[in-house]
Formats: sequence, C-alpha cells, structure tokens
Amino acid sequence: MSQPIQTVAVIGSGTMGAGIAEVAAMAGQQVLLHDISAEAMTRALDALRQRLEARVARGKLSTDACEQGLARIVAVTDLAALAAADLVIEAAAENLEIKKALFSQLAEICPPQTLLTSNTSSISITAIAAGVKHPERVAGLHFFNPAPVMKLVEVVSGVVTSDEVVTQLSQCVLAWGKQPVHCQSTPGFIVNRVARPFYAEAWRALEEQVAAPEAIDTALREAGGFPMGPLALTDLIGQDVNFAVTCSVFNAFWQERRFLPSLMQQELVLAGRLGKKTGQGVYPWPTGAAEVAFYPVVPAHRQASIVQKERDVVTLDDVLLMETNGETAQAAATRLQRPVVMMDRSEGAVVVIAIAAGNRLEATEKAIYWLQQQGKKVLLVADYPGLLVWRTVAMLVNEALDALQKGVASEEDINTAMRLGVNYPRGPLAWGEQLGWQRVLGLLETLQRHYGEERYRPCSLLRQRALLESSYES
Ligand code: NAD
Repeated sequence: MSQPIQTVAVIGSGTMGAGIAEVAAMAGQQVLLHDISAEAMTRALDALRQRLEARVARGKLSTDACEQGLARIVAVTDLAALAAADLVIEAAAENLEIKKALFSQLAEICPPQTLLTSNTSSISITAIAAGVKHPERVAGLHFFNPAPVMKLVEVVSGVVTSDEVVTQLSQCVLAWGKQPVHCQSTPGFIVNRVARPFYAEAWRALEEQVAAPEAIDTALREAGGFPMGPLALTDLIGQDVNFAVTCSVFNAFWQERRFLPSLMQQELVLAGRLGKKTGQGVYPWPTGAAEVAFYPVVPAHRQASIVQKERDVVTLDDVLLMETNGETAQAAATRLQRPVVMMDRSEGAVVVIAIAAGNRLEATEKAIYWLQQQGKKVLLVADYPGLLVWRTVAMLVNEALDALQKGVASEEDINTAMRLGVNYPRGPLAWGEQLGWQRVLGLLETLQRHYGEERYRPCSLLRQRALLESSYES
C-alpha cells in the first residue's frame, strides 16, 4: 500500500518550515513550500540560499549539491498545488483552528494515501485529525530547532493514526539522516514533557535563594554533565517561549502540580526580559553569567587525622561528608548528632555542598579540605534538600518513568529522545538504572516529606523498579 516518499510539501516557511524544507531537499526530495505570505517564502528561500552558500564557502558542501538542493524547492502560493505531495508537513502558526482548517482542505486536495503531518509542539494530533477525511494518515512529525542540525524527530501517533503510517514516517526520517522516536499524542510528547523538571528545579532553587543563577547553572553543567545550565538555556530559548511551553504542559495535564510554572520566570516575561534576544533575561547578554565564587582553598591544618570512606559517606574524624539522600544537612546532623556536610552528585571538577547550621567552621572545612584534595572545586550553597544535581536528575528519572508507565513511548525511545532532543548526557531511564531506583525513590520520598508537596511524589513504576532491585539484591 505504501509508496516511497518523493515529494514533500511544507506549509509555513518560518523558522521551522524553512529548516524542514532544507532537510528534505538536501536529502534529495522534491519540496513544495507553501505559506500564506509570499514575502515570508521569499525571505525563507533567500535565507536558505545564504546558509547553503556559507556552507559551500566553508568547504562543507559542493556548489553542485547546493544548487541542486535549492532547485528542488519550489515555492507555491496555491494550496491546491500540494496535491502532488506524498507527504505534507504543516509548520504554520501554533493554533488549533488554523491547523484544523488546513488539514480539512488538505484532505480534500490530496489523495487518501498522502501522509498529513503537523510539526506542532503542543497541540493534540488527535484533535488535528478529528473530522479530517482518512484520519489514520494524520500524524505528528515534531522537529527540533534548528531542524537541519538537530537529529531527533518525534513521530507522534494520534488515537487513530495507523501503524503503517508511523512506519512510513519513521523510514522517511531515517532517510533524512535523522533519528525517529515514536510517541503517543500526549502533552509535550516526550522531550517537552520529560525536560520540564530540568527548568522547574532550577527556578525552584532560585526562588528558594539556594544559590546565585550562575552557581545553579555551573552545578548542572560542571557536576551534572549537562551541556548547558538550565537558566542560561531558558535565556537562549527565550523566557517567553520556555514559559509558554511550561504553561501549556501544566494546563494540558489539568494543572498537575509537578509542572507548576515559576512565578519568577513569569515576572521576567512580564518585564520583557526574554533572554538573549532582548539583551537581558536571567543574565545580561551578550555578557552572560558572572564568575562563580568557589570556596577558597582550605589550609592543610584542616586535614582530618582519620579518614574512612564508604559508598556514600566519608567520615573525617567526627565529621560526616554524605552524598545527599534528600535530607538537609541539618536534618542529618540532628538525626546523627554529628557535624554533617551534605554533598551533591558530581561527575566533574565541581561539587556542590551544603552544611548543617550547627557545624563548627573547623568541622566544615575538614570536609572541604578533603574534597579539594580530590581535585574538586567546591560550591557552597544553602542547606537545600536533595541539592541541585541529584534533585534535578531524580525528577527527570521520575518524569521519564511516568511517561513510560503511561505508554507515551518505549524505554529506548525516551532515552534516545532526551539524549538527542536536548543533549542530556544520558537517557533518564538509563541514568535511573545507573543511580539505582531505590536511591532515586528514597530521595523523592524524602523531598515529598520535607515539602508536603505532590510535586515530588514518586511514580508507581519507580516503586515497582525499586522493589525489583531489592529483590535481586537479597
Ligand atoms: P513561525 O512564526 O516562524 O512561522 C510560521 C509561518 O507559518 C509564517 O511564515 C506564517 O506566515 C505561516 N502561516 C501562518 N498561518 C498559515 C496558514 N494558514 N497557511 C500557510 N502558512 C501560514 O513559526 P515556527 O516557529 O516556524 O513554528 C511553526 C510550527 O512549528 C508551530 O506549530 C510550532 O509550534 C512548531 N514548532 C516550533 C519550534 C520552534 O522552536 N520554533 C520547534 C518545534 C515545533
């Protein structure tokens, strides 16, 4: 039944449409580019020519390939010309009424086997397909910005999308040199849902005055291994765009508390401090983040006489240096009746710590001296439960498990989506496995007790995995 995809129509020649047209044309397909604005199409084609010519100048593309690629894209002002397409990718305005109107017209114009897809980031594919003739050929094809660079494409099934259509689309994505992942049409699909805690936990830390923004970003980057700190990333994405995605996911999940938007981010949006594009967001641009203040080098007389190292605890005389379990340092110090320095997860040169308020300076500095001797730069933050990296990663793992449990996508696709869609150092489910499900569960349960908030409630699949882990260990 399926036929090879030779002609691709792209509707909308804005940021995404232009990029998608480039992807298909450079992969050898004929492209029909349509926009309600002829001027937008001319602008898009001019910009595309400039981009490709710059690649030729850098020696990354031959002149022939550039000219052939450009010749494959034809701008069409009449929607009826899209009848010739095997696949239509709609990348027009993010508005259900506009999309529904377009899909209804397309269903009349195109033969029943033409695949009709939308690049929507937040609208239900089921809603777009409803009322369209042959709705089983309607699907989501969610590219990431910039489309020619980002490898990931989420292939999204609505309730009635056929498996055959998903297979055809996935094959087409592979032929473009991209990586497809398959998911169900649920709010945020995979990436925009699972990534929410990455931003939310950073705003939360800022709101609770745990550390300066540059310290929070440094922790996630230099200790957590993320390519960019969450706050700097929101400045690049645009505070308005990032806030709108959070609000959309929050509302689409019936105001689920896990996705609660940040009032602090809203204030930035209201002030027009949208990030890099306006010259000011969390940081001033192009200056960016200020230098981070690490703890000064501790003198050698703070060296502990007796050092005992276990898995998550280093005992330095009477001081306990503990990897966080979700407790505050003070809670652990009160429970154990010892000076406690709480330590975050660190996979790099930086480690975040918090100290119990009752610690003597000498006790705290024994721990810091030891960490500095291990080559770590120490970032002292307020006594915050779960600290910065552990808490963020635990929340990402929990969200990924929730999506897995609810059948949004497979384990492999969730991991792939987060590695390629937002460049996380590991897929969140692989990360959870590595950290240990019981540890992730313990941390979240402690956070939930601490705050009394539903936001930190562990998902039931996490409980199941934690139980299985302990049964294997026994
Ligand atoms: P954009 O504003 O840059 O471009 C939209 C284009 O669509 C404009 O040129 C506009 O003239 C045209 N358009 C509007 N209504 C139309 C209609 N009825 N018929 C034909 N053309 C029409 O928007 P964008 O950022 O490229 O986003 C397009 C779609 O892609 C949206 O659904 C958005 O949610 C989704 N998306 C955006 C991003 C992103 O980072 N920008 C990422 C993934 C998905």
